[in-house]
Amino acid sequence: MARTKTRNGKKKTAGAGKSTGRSAKSARGGATAGGRKSAGGLPLGRGPNPQRVRAILHRLDEAYPEASCELIHENPFELLISTILSAQCTDVTVNIVTKELFPKYPDARALAYADPRALEQEIRPTGFFRNKTKSIMGASKKIVEEFGGKVPQTMEELLTLPGVARKTANVVLGSGFGIASGIVVDTHVQRLSERLDLTKNTDPKKIEQDLMQIILREKWILFSHQLIWHGRRVCNARKPKCAECNLERLCYSKDKTS
Ligand code: SF4
Repeated sequence: MARTKTRNGKKKTAGAGKSTGRSAKSARGGATAGGRKSAGGLPLGRGPNPQRVRAILHRLDEAYPEASCELIHENPFELLISTILSAQCTDVTVNIVTKELFPKYPDARALAYADPRALEQEIRPTGFFRNKTKSIMGASKKIVEEFGGKVPQTMEELLTLPGVARKTANVVLGSGFGIASGIVVDTHVQRLSERLDLTKNTDPKKIEQDLMQIILREKWILFSHQLIWHGRRVCNARKPKCAECNLERLCYSKDKTS
């Protein structure tokens, strides 16, 4: 199940994703599905063939059975605001800012009619604070005036909100409502999908379509969390820790380190 951290540290279930129950620590190697070799000598061949994709998913389940959204939130509206704030900013910084922000602005109405100058200063540490203020206030206003104060639950409706593109909508639907409408393609998912040769595309929309073709819908929510966790903890952008990576035998990225 996709789980989400709340402000009090408890986890709540938002959607349907399967986990295997093993420790979250990555374990390199081992004679599991990913370790078997094809006739050609490469572990389960190359590209997004079904056997190799299954092996990658199996390894991700082993390493991150309970991967979840790391933006702390109590409801879909808070998640929406946190996700808007997270553009070009770490989740850690967003969580620090929202710890003060959400008690002061507890719902869409409060943010819709906030003092923009004050809000800009309150979210300033997350960067791009003027644009983010416009997006937050615009989205909140639309939620109040057109959606009865509730975050809409369809991709089409979410995309009408200022500052909301497909990635943000997928985060809110997946982690806020447990609806697998697509796959979140952020910078980590993009990088890892390329390194793991799950796509040849570089455009996030096309990457998402490629991933949706090769991964079962029931795995979409958990899979994106798992790739994000792997990207943050092991497969870093600049210096991936390949020696610690349990996908190493399935990976032939040119970025691999020895
Ligand atoms: S590049 Fe390295 S860390 Fe990233 S998936 Fe491949 S083996 Fe793992």
